[in-house]
Amino acid sequence: MNDSLRHKGLRKKLVDGLKIKGIRDDKVLEAIRKVPRHLFMESSFINFAYKDQAFPIGAGQTISQPFTVAFQTQLLDIHKHDKILEIGTGSGYQAAVLIEMGAIVYTIERQKELYIKSQQLLPPIGYFPKFFFGDGYTGLPTYGPFDKIIVTAGASSIPEKLKLQLKPGGKMVIPVGGKTRQEMMLVTRVNETEFKSEKFGSFIFVPMLKGVVKL
Ligand code: SAH
Repeated sequence: MNDSLRHKGLRKKLVDGLKIKGIRDDKVLEAIRKVPRHLFMESSFINFAYKDQAFPIGAGQTISQPFTVAFQTQLLDIHKHDKILEIGTGSGYQAAVLIEMGAIVYTIERQKELYIKSQQLLPPIGYFPKFFFGDGYTGLPTYGPFDKIIVTAGASSIPEKLKLQLKPGGKMVIPVGGKTRQEMMLVTRVNETEFKSEKFGSFIFVPMLKGVVKL
């Protein structure tokens, strides 16, 4: 794995920038300091890996901006051994950040190309999420319930099926809105029947789409 001192230095700078932008959770900052983000990007974008920007990862998708990854992760208040469902594996970067924090990650991707690519990338560099190919709108009912759910694509509404896969006390972070802009929502399952939702500002994600895309 090519992770040089220069990459490490750039990551430290990125983390300093995230602190200035308001990321306070030390466990999140430490994970971003450790995960070699440049390995998750296409080689032509490697010089941009540690800029706080989203970049293409193939199949018309993007790796989320580091600030967005940090913000969603911070909202989830991750603890060691948390069982987490991620919708939208994409490059696998967000999954790696969660694993670095000690979480057990189940991740679903609807595009076969990315599902395959992320499985080739993550295990060799030491990250072992459980990978699934499918439509995240259904979640993983047979593997749930989960402590936390993170949706990394913009949904038009909060999927009922995902809410029901949260443990009581569990939290889901999900960007909800139209095609161009979404509101970051944090949904807490207060108990078996009650849910609470809170809003945390607007973000831009690729859309959460129904069905799967085969090769
Ligand atoms: N978490 C990713 C972000 C990728 S962008 C990362 O760290 O790189 C969002 C991803 O969500 C895309 O790969 C897209 O294909 C996927 N996606 C969109 N709708 C989905 C759905 N219904 N089920 C599963 N994945 C979905």
